[in-house]
Formats: sequence, C-alpha cells, structure tokens
Amino acid sequence: MKPARLALTHELVVQYGLSNKMKFMSPREAFDSEVKKFHSEDYVDFLRRVTPDNVTNYSKFLSKFNLGVEDCPIFDGLYDFCRMYSGASIEAARQLMTGQADIAINWSGGLHHAKKFEASGFCYVNDIVLAILELLQTNQRVLYVDIDVHHGDGVQEAFYHSDRVMTVSFHRYDGTFFPGTGALDENGGGNGKFYSINVPLHEGIDDSSYQSIFQSVIEKVMDSFQPEAIVLQCGADSLASDRLGSFNLSVKGHGDCVDYMKSFRIPMLVLGGGGYTIRNVARAWTYETSRLLSVDVPNQLPPNVYLNQFLDEPVLHPNIVDANLENRNSPGELRKIEQTVAEYLRYLQGAPSVQMQHVPGDIGGVRGDDDPHADRDEDRNTDKRHSDISIGRKRKDKERNVDADERDYYDGDRDHDRDADQGRRRVNQRIDPVIMLPSTPLATNSVADAVSPGAKGGGVGRDGVFAHNNAPGAASNKDGK
Ligand SMILES: [Zn+2]
Repeated sequence: MKPARLALTHELVVQYGLSNKMKFMSPREAFDSEVKKFHSEDYVDFLRRVTPDNVTNYSKFLSKFNLGVEDCPIFDGLYDFCRMYSGASIEAARQLMTGQADIAINWSGGLHHAKKFEASGFCYVNDIVLAILELLQTNQRVLYVDIDVHHGDGVQEAFYHSDRVMTVSFHRYDGTFFPGTGALDENGGGNGKFYSINVPLHEGIDDSSYQSIFQSVIEKVMDSFQPEAIVLQCGADSLASDRLGSFNLSVKGHGDCVDYMKSFRIPMLVLGGGGYTIRNVARAWTYETSRLLSVDVPNQLPPNVYLNQFLDEPVLHPNIVDANLENRNSPGELRKIEQTVAEYLRYLQGAPSVQMQHVPGDIGGVRGDDDPHADRDEDRNTDKRHSDISIGRKRKDKERNVDADERDYYDGDRDHDRDADQGRRRVNQRIDPVIMLPSTPLATNSVADAVSPGAKGGGVGRDGVFAHNNAPGAASNKDGK
C-alpha cells in the first residue's frame, strides 16, 4: 500500500493527541468470499492471480477488466492491498452494526469507482459497496454521501435499482471530467428510481456555495429517506490546490460537510477517497477526525516527524484557496439543482417501509424485484452508463497529464512520492489500514440510542476505551492539546 497520505494523517492524529480519544483497530484482510459479495468471481480470481511478472500472459483479460492501464496498473501485492483496505471498511461497518461504535473511520477506504467486474480510476475493489452490503444486514436504509471531486459512479451503479440505499454524490461534472457520469438526471431505475441523487458542479466552487447546496440537499435527503446508517466518502481532491481536482474548498469548508453529517446523530462510517496534494489530504482528514471527536485542535501543527512535508505553512488550515479562481457555479444554477433534487425527493413520499430481509451474496438481493421492467431498465442504464464511463475515461486519459508519482493508491516500482521523499522520514513504508473508532457524542441523542443499542450515553464503555457522552475533555485527555 502506498501510505503517504495515511502515514501523514496518522502522525498528525497521534501528535494532536486525538488518538487518546479513540479506539484503534488493525482489522484483518477481507476474505475472497467477502469481496465476491459484490465483485464477480472471475474478476476477483484474476486480481488474485495477476502479477507484474505474469501480466503478459493475460493481455485478453487486462482489457476485459480494465487493468494494466495508466490509472489501474498491476503491481506486486495488488490483491493484498485490496483485501487490506476492504477488510478495514467491512470491519468498520460491523463495529457500527453491533453497536460497538457510533462512528467508525477508515481513511484507507473510499475507493468509489470500482465496478462489479472492472477496475477504474485507481480503484480495484469497491470497499464502500462491500461495507454498505454489511450495513444492510441490520439496517433498512443506508445513505451514501460522496464529497470527492469525482462522481461516485461505482457505488451508484451497484445500488442503482435499490430503494434501500440512497446515493448522493457532489462532484465536478461537465461531460468530460472523469468518470464522465453523474448528471442531474441520473436518478435511479426500477425500485431505485429517485434513490440516486447527483449534484453536478462546475470548477471553482467555494466554501459558501458548496455549503449552501450541500446542506440544502442533505437536509431534504435526510428528511425524505430517513436513513438508519450513513456512509460518508471524504475524497479530499475536492480541496483547493489539489493536483487533479478543480474545486476551491478550504480544509475547514471540506470538514464542515463532515460536521454537518455528524449533526444528524446517525451511526456513520467515514471513509477516505481521492486526494492528490498529500499534505492537504492529511490536514483535511486530521481536521475531520477532530470534528468527529468534537475536539478543538490548535491551528499550529504539533511537532511531528513529517514536518518537512508542511513547510509551505506548518498549520492545519493554510490558505489554500485560490482567490483568483472563478467560481463557475452561478447562484441561479445551484438553486435550479436544489429544486430538481427536491422534486425527485417528493416522489419518494416518505421513507420506504422495507421489510428486513437477509441480504444474499448477490447484490441483486438488495434491489427491488417486483418491477417487471427492472432488468430491462438495468441493462439499458448499465449499458448507457458503461458507454458514458468509457467515453469519460478516454477523455480523462488525454486530460490526465500527471506523473506517476502523483498517484497515491499503489506502490509499484516506478512509484515514489516526490513530496514524501523530501521529508525527514520516507513515508512510503508499508502501514496497515487502521480503523479509528472515535468515542463520539452520538449517544447523547435518543435517536442514536434507539438505532445503536450498544451506544448508551454516559460513562466509560465496555472496554474502557469508549467514553460515550463525552463532552470535549470528558475522555482521557492526558496528551490532548
Ligand atoms: Zn476523486
């Protein structure tokens, strides 16, 4: 695993003293059988078999599975890498399901582009879909929210016909930006009609415009869908100054989305995602960890072994916003998107009353089966989306003109991190994904208590680590700053 962003994030979280307020877990790697709950058998078997040494024997399969291309290279330990981040997201979901946590964080997860039988955009196995499938075993409705600059296409496609999962993606969309999908009128099919919500945005969106549309859409979604669990993908390529993104959000503006989602006090799985200016990714995810803990941390970065990475400004909130970047999202356009989303949600007529059912291994089990046209719709929509995606990819391939060392999801021979290598310590050593389980204040809320029976408010949790009902400072704070 190429862990530069994770190593930096982990170091800041620890040095800020936030780790004292959370339980850390080192989850096991996902089993094949778990990965195959979403991904096709032949795709998973291929991922397991292919290596840089034998790749030339598999040229036919490479194109079939979209592997070996620029943004989905084959590297040593590829499948182990997938099993690691997926195992972490699955385990994090189980912590929520069993009431052992109200919030679980896996910054190594959030690979939202992977499809059932194809890799895409640095994503090989879709840990988000696997985690949501877990959550559906004990929750009737799961809300997926995606603030990566790219459309959360893999997750949307997986649940496009389901009324038990609502996907809401905020992303740049202009018909050419990768992956090329995520138009406002992609809103679900069959029983999932109007359960896929897309908020297509233009370049240069700033904090105030983003917050305005984010909160407006999410408020309506929460009202209509009434989820029992939330999965939040916090792709940090929506930050200003990202190497691939083109939005203009500050670290605080990005974190405000996390804060807002937490304010609903619903059990929440928080995942990483994209992000290509690694020092800012680490800043954002550290800040968001602090928000999830409801702990204020000083702007000045604490002493840490990667301080050389932050020489631009040794603070958590540097001025990364480009004052000269035009916000191409007019208030009128944004209002129109809000109105259209509100219309879609009106069709839902309240939260669906879904009977609890076992979710079989096949993802078809989560989609409505009583619509005789569902299969035909699915085929048509899937074909269309695949075709859109492939167009988007081709265009993106041309547009993407970055060096291999700007990639942060793999660690192939050619892969080295320019920023990290200049630091005091090389950060491309292997670290395993860690689930962080904040002792959150959710349990002070009766709704959270009702849906998360293990999370009763007050006192120290069963293992002495959870300190529910902890106002800032209530938990162990010995090293807190
Ligand atoms: Zn992205």
